[in-house]
Amino acid sequence: MKRLAVTLALLALAGCHAPGARPPAADRPAKGLVALPCAGSGALAPANTGYCRLQRNYVAAKGLAVLQDATTAMQAKFPGARVLYLEASWPLGKRPMPPHLSHGDGREVDLAFYYVDRAGKPLAKPPRSWGYEAFEPPRREAERACAGGRRGKNDRPDPPRDRAWRLDEARTAALVKVLAADPRVRRIFIEPHLKTRLGLTTYGKVRFAGCQAARHDDHIHVDFF
Ligand SMILES: [Zn+2]
Repeated sequence: MKRLAVTLALLALAGCHAPGARPPAADRPAKGLVALPCAGSGALAPANTGYCRLQRNYVAAKGLAVLQDATTAMQAKFPGARVLYLEASWPLGKRPMPPHLSHGDGREVDLAFYYVDRAGKPLAKPPRSWGYEAFEPPRREAERACAGGRRGKNDRPDPPRDRAWRLDEARTAALVKVLAADPRVRRIFIEPHLKTRLGLTTYGKVRFAGCQAARHDDHIHVDFF
């Protein structure tokens, strides 16, 4: 689940974790947590290296293995396809990690959707710099979950109709299917309209996070066992 990642991240960037600053000793990761790779050019990489500077890039070792295997599977299906992560967990190893309703103990990670431009050419990264908030809205209002709105700042508007990007349905669906097939993955959150559109209706692990949570038509939330 989420977030307000952009605001929080920018606040934190302006605070004690300046880029390149050595983390204080208290920020050493809790037992069992490992860091996701931080090289921005890697096959498994942060959508924004700020996630590493902010120390939001920790997962349980099992989570790292799942993501490495998913990356290998995606590159076999779509040469050059990378798996970009957004917020994972902080080093404390405790839930929740604000502003998320969960995250924090290493068993959750948010992954970027894949996008194309208006001509169908794959984009190398999500259209927004932190990876969140490039929403793929429902095609019909009747498909919209939480038509009455979401709680507080989770009630985010659709992007403009003339936006320069669209969801890459093939690659995004493939990534969800790879993750759902992994027995180490407990559940995956995306919006119901995307579950239908991406052909995932038979995938029991793919679920709706609920109207108390942020929109999940801009990223994939993954829970590990
Ligand atoms: Zn999440």
